[in-house]
Amino acid sequence: MNRLDDVLRARLDRLHAEGLERRLRRVDSPQAVRLRIDDRPALNFSSNDYLGLANHPALIEAGARALRDFGGGTGASRLICGSLRPHHELEAALADLKGTEAALCFSCGYTAALGAIGALVGRADFILIDRLVHACVVDAARLSGATLRVFAHNDLEDLEAKLKWCDQRRKLAPGSAVASPTSAHILIVTESVFSMDGDLAPLLDLVELKDRYGAWLMLDEAHATGLYGTRGGGCAEAEGISNRVEVQMSTLGKAVGAAGGCVAGSRSLIDFLVNRARSFIFSTAPPPAIAAAAEAGVRLIQSTEGAERRSRLWSNAGQIDALLSKLGHDFGGTGVNHAPRSPIRPVRLGRESRALAVAEALRGQGVFVPAIRYPTVARGQARLRLTVSAEHTAADLRELDCALTAALKEHDE
Ligand SMILES: *Cc1c(COP(=O)(O)O)cnc(C)c1O
Repeated sequence: MNRLDDVLRARLDRLHAEGLERRLRRVDSPQAVRLRIDDRPALNFSSNDYLGLANHPALIEAGARALRDFGGGTGASRLICGSLRPHHELEAALADLKGTEAALCFSCGYTAALGAIGALVGRADFILIDRLVHACVVDAARLSGATLRVFAHNDLEDLEAKLKWCDQRRKLAPGSAVASPTSAHILIVTESVFSMDGDLAPLLDLVELKDRYGAWLMLDEAHATGLYGTRGGGCAEAEGISNRVEVQMSTLGKAVGAAGGCVAGSRSLIDFLVNRARSFIFSTAPPPAIAAAAEAGVRLIQSTEGAERRSRLWSNAGQIDALLSKLGHDFGGTGVNHAPRSPIRPVRLGRESRALAVAEALRGQGVFVPAIRYPTVARGQARLRLTVSAEHTAADLRELDCALTAALKEHDE
């Protein structure tokens, strides 16, 4: 072994000792409620495929057709010769879903955040992010060079205090104590449904607040797209504020059932991102099969079948709430706005080792719910992250009930 391996092995040993080591599990089946993981059957309560579209025949067929018609790869970035018809059709469908003038697709949500935030703000600007936003927003904010401030989770008072702070500073020209009109901007970034707690942002108040300070809002709808609003556009659609959120970001890898990222907004926003979003410009266009599958997912979300799937999902989520209440678990979010309806249920267990032990006990009974640990959540706030799907049946929910009741009893403290 060389020196690098020695150093890395020591670091891995430490992670292992702290209960923080992570490993890949091989899944030998398509994404579904029943999986085969490491050669054992598993009833899956861990996926973000909330509507059960990832393995839907319509997505498979659309992807296969695009693979035949347009091939496997795209040859170059979108701006060179890789901008294929499936990308353009997907973007038209996304703009329609989001109720915006235009949309742009990226390879994934992570690169959508990096590209959009980096294009919109720079050193002279300010960026305010919720304490619990996804890592891609944190990374993008740091990389942008803008002055970064973090506000307490879903706390509009704290956000307003930080908006005031930014507002005062942006009115001062560099090096002078005299207020002057300025070109510095403030971008607020938050999520509509938080990925680890499943609680919702107070969107209407947030929009009022940012308008009062002339700030821009970027809303990450990764866990909301497909699930909220009469046509599944997300929380902005559901609240009727699509045209007041400057930047609507999402992934196409969760409820949409495919892969990719998306930014939706005005025509000027999209035209600007095509010119300035580095993760869009300097990256090979996503494969046509993925774009076509995502478009099929978007169409399904807007169809009657999509509405039926949403109603099955919410009915299942209600049953999970009843189960968790019965077990005496506080499954609420950490914010002011406990989600009555999101497909994500954190079961807070505290110590990393306890979360791992409960997850392992569930696994022993054929139920898969992952233990979420640092760095995904703070140290000592380990939890099970239980997600529900439209595809879960009453029998699946009963199986979860038995397994979870036994596992929590076994590792009570
Ligand atoms: C999953 C996720 C992303 C990243 O999207 P990918 O397409 O998986 O890269 C961004 N934001 C949030 C809140 C997410 O949960």
